[in-house]
Amino acid sequence: MANVTLRNVRKTYLGGFEAIKGIDFEVGDGQFCVLVGPSGCGKSTLLRMVAGLETITGGEIDIGGRIVNQIEPAERDIAMVFQNYALYPHMTVYNNMAYGLRNRRMAEGEIKTRVAEAARILELSAMLDRKPRQLSGGQRQRVAMGRAIVRQPKVFLFDEPLSNLDAKLRIAMRVEIRKLQRRLSTTSIYVTHDQLEAMTLADILVVMNGGEVEQIGNPLEIYQRPATTFVASFIGAPPMNLMPLRSELKSQLASDARAAEAGIIGIRPEDFVISNEAVSGGVALGLTVEAIERVGAETFVYGTRQQEMQGVAATPGELPPGEIIVRVPGAVGPAIGERIRAVAAPDKLHLFTADGRKRV
Ligand code: ATP
Repeated sequence: MANVTLRNVRKTYLGGFEAIKGIDFEVGDGQFCVLVGPSGCGKSTLLRMVAGLETITGGEIDIGGRIVNQIEPAERDIAMVFQNYALYPHMTVYNNMAYGLRNRRMAEGEIKTRVAEAARILELSAMLDRKPRQLSGGQRQRVAMGRAIVRQPKVFLFDEPLSNLDAKLRIAMRVEIRKLQRRLSTTSIYVTHDQLEAMTLADILVVMNGGEVEQIGNPLEIYQRPATTFVASFIGAPPMNLMPLRSELKSQLASDARAAEAGIIGIRPEDFVISNEAVSGGVALGLTVEAIERVGAETFVYGTRQQEMQGVAATPGELPPGEIIVRVPGAVGPAIGERIRAVAAPDKLHLFTADGRKRV
C-alpha cells in the first residue's frame, strides 16, 4: 500500500520566508491527488518536499507507512516527472528510459523488458533509437513519463508536466496521463496552476493559497460548494461573480442564521438566466452589456450593473464596471449596449462571510 500522508508539514526557507505553513492531507493508495493554486502558493515546494529534493522544516511526510523526512530521494520509491522533461539530449529514447534502472544495477534483461513494456503503453516502440531532438514535444513528454514508469515506483510525482505543450496537445496528454494512472493504479501527486487540468485529473483536489490549504476534496464538490471566496474564484472559468451583500436584503436570501453571518454573495456565470420574469427568493441584476465573447458552444456576456435591481447592493463605486459575467449556452445572446436582466434562482446562490474566509 502506498498512501502518502502529510502531517503538519512546514517549510521555512533560509532567510525566514514561510512557504508552507502547516499542511495536512492524505492521498489513499492508487489515488490521483492534484495540488492547485496560484503562482507562489507553495505547491512546487510541497511536491519537492515529498520527493526529498527540499528539506522539511516541521511535521512528517509518510509514504507507504514509512516516515521519509530523513530519507534520501533515491530511497523514497518515488518517480518524478518534470515540466522540462529533463531528458539527456545525447542519449537515445531507450537509454533515457533505461538510465535510472542501470544506475540501480538492474540486470539488462529486466531493463529491456521494462522499457519495452513502457514503450508499448506510451506508443514509443518505433522511436526507441531516436534522440530527444528528433521527437515532438508530446513525444518527449511521453519519454519523461516512460522514465518514471519503468521504475515501477510506489508514487508518481508530477511537477506541471504539461506546461510546455500547446493547448491541443495538453488536453490530449491530460487524458493520456489519467488513463495511464488508472491502468497502473499508482498513487500520484500532480502540481498545476491550471484549474481545468486540476478538475479533470483529480480524485482529490487540494486548493492552496499562501502556503496553506484552502480546501480539500472531490473536485466537483469543491466546484459546487467552495469553502472560501478564494476557492470560488480560483476554481471555475470564467470565475464566480462575487458581490457584497446589502444588509437589509440578507433576510430575503437566507435563513436568519445564515443571513446574520453573510457578507458576500457569489453566483457562477452559468447559473444566471437572462430573463424578464419575476424571481422569488433569488437574485435579479439589471445589466448593461459591455462586451460579448462568442466561443461557439457558449457565449460570455460581460455586463455593468445598473442601479435598479433586486437582491444585491448597488452602492456606486462598490463594484468595478464589467464585473458581472453571464454564461449562456449557444452562439446567441444580447447585443452590446443592450439592457438585460440576469436572474439566478435561490439554490444557485453561494453565501460567504464578509472576509470571504468561510462559506455560510
Ligand atoms: P509556481 O506556480 O510559480 O511555480 P508555486 O506555487 O510552485 O509557484 P513555490 O515554487 O513552491 O510556488 O514557491 C513558494 C514560495 O516560496 C514563493 O513565494 C517563492 O518565492 C518562495 N521560494 C521558493 N523557493 C525558495 C528558496 N529557495 N528560497 C526562498 N524562497 C523560496
